[in-house]
Amino acid sequence: YQRIVLASRPRGAVVPENFRLEEAEVPALAEGQLLVRNHYLSLDPYMRGRMSEAKSYAVPQPLDETMIGGTVGEVVESRHPGFAVGEFVAGMFGWAEMGVSGGAGLRKVDTGAIPASAHLGVVGMPGMTAWYGMHEILRPALGETVVVSAASGAVGSAVGQLAKLAGCRAVGIAGGRAKCDYVVQELGFDACVDYKAGNLKADLAAATPDGIDAIFENVGGEVFDTALGRTNAFARVALCGLLAGYTGAEIPIRNAKKLLLSRIMLRGFIVTEHMDMWPQGLSDMGRLVAAGKLKYRESISQGLASAPDALIGLLQGRNFGKQLVKLI
Ligand code: NDP
Repeated sequence: YQRIVLASRPRGAVVPENFRLEEAEVPALAEGQLLVRNHYLSLDPYMRGRMSEAKSYAVPQPLDETMIGGTVGEVVESRHPGFAVGEFVAGMFGWAEMGVSGGAGLRKVDTGAIPASAHLGVVGMPGMTAWYGMHEILRPALGETVVVSAASGAVGSAVGQLAKLAGCRAVGIAGGRAKCDYVVQELGFDACVDYKAGNLKADLAAATPDGIDAIFENVGGEVFDTALGRTNAFARVALCGLLAGYTGAEIPIRNAKKLLLSRIMLRGFIVTEHMDMWPQGLSDMGRLVAAGKLKYRESISQGLASAPDALIGLLQGRNFGKQLVKLI
């Protein structure tokens, strides 16, 4: 089977030469192991951080080893009493067509009501991220205004829809007219501001006539500072990601004065440190998707070899919705 390893660490932007496609042998299973044929690989912004040497909340991706990544696939062989051939599991098999596991960390997924791919998106890690930030940090009240950046993406699209379900005014910030139109017309946000149009401050003011009560921040930099400028007293910020700084740039908060004036509560979080909440969050998200109350969109690239280019695209905003690689 094929796998992709990290060949070198990027200096600034990720380039295709940072990866290497390799052939690997399917090992014979030991007692207690299972073999999974991965159907989809998830590509996520955190991968850029792992490719660097610097240690953050997680250890760096080792060179010459299979790139880290979430996958969903089918059990094709099992010597594990808890897993049967034909069952679907979500796991972390990385950038590889197949994976062997002892079962730890695998999550069985039901592909009946919800397609396999969605277990990597809205009913997977990104959806769980939206759910956690909304339920545990922002907790918006009826009628409040919630702003989310990277609004058309895997996390942002779920955040805005959860805000609408909670009776809030949902305002997105996204790059380009097409993404903004989708967020408003398909997902039902009240407004979406195109930060690339050049009038971010005025456009965000027009979209938030009553100010901002909660910010779900995915980007940082100018987008975040501009949103801070519109906050009401006692606004909350869930600091989820800093996409603007993923190539290594510093991302200062220039509007610190507003943190004080609005008496802001800001909390950063890492969703994988709250695994105890996943069963509840995923079951909530799954129910909403199955009931048609939560929509999602996917950008799917075909074949493992397409993964490097698709990750580079994700880090440049070329994706439109959850970025996946279809492996079969
Ligand atoms: P998305 O599906 O939103 O894809 C990334 C999007 O980010 C792009 O489409 C682009 O949208 C935008 N983007 C990319 N580069 C930049 C840039 N330099 N400046 C501004 N925007 C940029 O990704 P996810 O939904 O998977 O992730 C969203 C955020 O959530 C990320 O910051 C990620 O790290 C974070 N996250 C955090 C977790 C946690 O536990 N804290 C867990 C999961 C995700 P556009 O065209 O609109 O600019």
